[in-house]
Amino acid sequence: MAAILDAFLSDELDALRQKHLFRSLRILEGQQVPEARFDGQSVINLSSNNYLGFSTHRRLVEAAKQATDSFGVGSGAVRTIAGTMQIHMELEQAIARFKQVEACVVFQSGFTANAGTVSSILGKGDLIISDELNHASIIDGCRLSRGEIRVFPHKDLNRLEEILKETAQFPGKKLLISDGVFSMDGDIAPLPGLVELGERYGAILMVDDAHASGVLGRNGRGTVDHFGLHGRVDIQVGTLSKAIGSLGGYVCGSRKLIEFLYHRARPFLFSTSHPPAVAASCLAAFQVLQEEPEWIARLWENTRFFKAGLERLGFDTGQSETPITPIIIGKGDLAMRFSDELFARGVFAQGIGFPTVPEARSRVRTIVTATHTQQLLQRALEVMGQVGQRLGII
Ligand SMILES: *Cc1c(COP(=O)(O)O)cnc(C)c1O
Repeated sequence: MAAILDAFLSDELDALRQKHLFRSLRILEGQQVPEARFDGQSVINLSSNNYLGFSTHRRLVEAAKQATDSFGVGSGAVRTIAGTMQIHMELEQAIARFKQVEACVVFQSGFTANAGTVSSILGKGDLIISDELNHASIIDGCRLSRGEIRVFPHKDLNRLEEILKETAQFPGKKLLISDGVFSMDGDIAPLPGLVELGERYGAILMVDDAHASGVLGRNGRGTVDHFGLHGRVDIQVGTLSKAIGSLGGYVCGSRKLIEFLYHRARPFLFSTSHPPAVAASCLAAFQVLQEEPEWIARLWENTRFFKAGLERLGFDTGQSETPITPIIIGKGDLAMRFSDELFARGVFAQGIGFPTVPEARSRVRTIVTATHTQQLLQRALEVMGQVGQRLGII
């Protein structure tokens, strides 16, 4: 190895270790299910985004197997050359119908959907106005666009309106962008207010529903449906990697928007499309969302049960309104210790500290799914209560 690289890596890794931020990957043995084996230990899993249990749903697994048998394991090219298979088009049409929009384009991930869309629509001379807690893929898209970036305090519509007034004469395009559900806090964006301000000040509106797809709205149609704002959000992003259970991201909007992205979004143009098994499993997932509404009902029953239990124990669960429930601890090292001790006692809930959240908002994040039993959640609550008391968190 080049000496300069070796020295750089050693310094960086030592610094992480000194700040107790060095983590090794937890290894999942077997399936992503509510009682799973990580690092050789059986734990109650409160850390996956597999909201509806779809990553192991029979119909999705069967669809993936059949597509592999029929079409092979890879698409063999990028979408714009030879890698657009019929099943890719079927999936995009199914998502567009589901979301009640003209058209949809699927990307390899939610990350590339956001980064590819923001960076192709906006450019030098344009302005992006972004919630401070937006996802890293939005932030990267903003940077790649080379547009000007203004950040408003989390969900602060007053401050947002001030920025829109200050920039009323801005000559370029303006994009107002927000997560639909915020991934660290589980709170919902004030979408009606964002729509109104966007319309009043002539800004394009984009919402990233990664944690809302399959969770909020009728059959999991997302925040636009949840608030009844169809036709008033220009660009809707979703992921196929969380509630949908597989992998990918998508952008929904007008036919023109999608045709533009076909020509300009760089991850679409320069990175190979999904294997047929991925597209087929996603296609099956949208059918299941509509035919088996009981999964979303169970997800919300479990969410209410678990949140009530945490609050009864006296934990600070912040502003959460969705299945993502943080337990705010306030000190990074204590949050990590809480998480580690929970794991040792059979409960897997990820500790999250700086730089993902500010040190004073350090936390353990929990996510329940439709496939947890209440007995399992009750067991997790008991362990969390005992460890929380011993560490003086409650
Ligand atoms: C997870 C997430 C993404 C990325 O989605 P992937 O499909 O995992 O790449 C984008 N935006 C938000 C808000 C997310 O939480």
